[in-house]
Amino acid sequence: MIADLHCHSYCSDGELAPADVVARAVARGVRLLALTDHDNTDGVAEAQAAASAAGIDFVAGVEISCRWEGHDIHIVGLRVDPDSPVLVAGLAGQHEARRERGRQIAARLARAGAAGCWERACQLAGTDRPGRPHFARAIVEAGQARDIEHAFNRFLKQGQVAYVPTPWASIEDAVGWIRGAGGVAVVAHPSRYKLTRSKLKRLLVQFAAAGGQALEVQLPRQQPNQVQSLMLMGNQLGLAGSVASDFHGGHMPWAELGAAGELLPGIRPVWELF
Ligand code: MN
Ligand code: MN
Ligand code: MN
Repeated sequence: MIADLHCHSYCSDGELAPADVVARAVARGVRLLALTDHDNTDGVAEAQAAASAAGIDFVAGVEISCRWEGHDIHIVGLRVDPDSPVLVAGLAGQHEARRERGRQIAARLARAGAAGCWERACQLAGTDRPGRPHFARAIVEAGQARDIEHAFNRFLKQGQVAYVPTPWASIEDAVGWIRGAGGVAVVAHPSRYKLTRSKLKRLLVQFAAAGGQALEVQLPRQQPNQVQSLMLMGNQLGLAGSVASDFHGGHMPWAELGAAGELLPGIRPVWELF
């Protein structure tokens, strides 16, 4: 069975409407889907309705930005109750942090020669709390970068002029909100943080102690040795494994829905916890 438990709609920084994400997942053979927009669950009702109509399994999800030892770490919540007061309150705090970070990014971009990015990024986001991919598109449109990747490398990445550290939630907060909403907490894309093996292990131990239950082991473009290493670490710590495309839209073809493939044997599927 092809599962894909991490993707984005235009309710955060994805390109497509929630129902269109579902339709595309169905066309790609996905049978179990979670919509996990950044710090909001605005799209899950629409996605749930589309998934029911198409006859595939769907779980409501969210991807929560966290700050841990100087790194931006993402924690995915799966099968959360979107109306849970503890989750709703936690996400409201994240929105304020994202709004303030956006204003600071825009100010830095203006000083670096890319003017008007705040207005454009808000327009692209459809809210006053744009994410970095919205800024990246605004930068490209302003002629300050060749493409999205170049915009990140030149301006937005950690170490670059428009990188702004944000007071995101702690790991314990994010896991608490997810568990409080009846969900399963999952460490998103562990290889992307470029942590040493021992530091990643420390993160996972702390995450598990806080009540976290799984990590993403399979992603598109993930090397077999990375999958093996994550599988081993997860198994040692009693964490289940998840499958995640991190789909944002057709403009990032390497992260297509369902592209992470079927979960390999030897990994305890996270959906056994649902
Ligand atoms: Mn994103
Ligand atoms: Mn992420
Ligand atoms: Mn994501």
